[in-house]
Amino acid sequence: MTLNKQKGNMYPFVTHTWNVIKGKCPHDCSYCYMKAFPQGELRFDEKELKTDLGENNFIFVGSSCDMFADGVIFTFKVEKILEHCKKYPKNTYLFQTKNPGGFKEFESQFPPNTIFGTTAESNLGWKFSKAPNIHQRLVCLSGIKGRKMITIEPIMDFNLEPFVSWIEGVEPEFVNIGADSKGHNLLEPSWEKVQKLIKELEKFTKVNLKENLGRLKVTPKIAT
Ligand code: SF4
Repeated sequence: MTLNKQKGNMYPFVTHTWNVIKGKCPHDCSYCYMKAFPQGELRFDEKELKTDLGENNFIFVGSSCDMFADGVIFTFKVEKILEHCKKYPKNTYLFQTKNPGGFKEFESQFPPNTIFGTTAESNLGWKFSKAPNIHQRLVCLSGIKGRKMITIEPIMDFNLEPFVSWIEGVEPEFVNIGADSKGHNLLEPSWEKVQKLIKELEKFTKVNLKENLGRLKVTPKIAT
């Protein structure tokens, strides 16, 4: 097997993705880009453990199915995936989940150059997923030691002060912000509100803006 080069709407800093656990993600987010493809049952693809992960790569492990979702970590051997990463210590690895409580199960087993991440689309209680709620995700991630990042994508309308405070509590090394790029009819903040968010976040962390965020300058679906 070979590593997949990053493409599409991926983080620009990620060079490759690698997916061992495949199939329908239990979090079932309404905006999941994977829903455009046939997904099948969850499965652990043993063949992927033969992949040469190389060196000096920035690999997003588990980009197509959340490998730390409850239904996944209790069924599959996530340890085997982490062990394989450790054989290639010159890479940087991104593990991103909407269930950061799952990181705790394997805390001492991650490769040395790991970045732990979660998604926080808003601080409001929009219902779009079976994943743990956003406050819970951020509280769990704040309890993880190591390099951390948060991705606000697809951004949805939020309340500025509490949202920034939740994020600051995690002490992320950086925050990514992106928008819905596939027209999922999510309620979005105005561009002015996004700019205020960026300004507040930049007081304590680095902020990366994804290209698709530019759409909000002209056509946000603003909450009424
Ligand atoms: S957690 Fe990620 S992979 Fe899983 S359904 Fe949501 S967007 Fe898709």
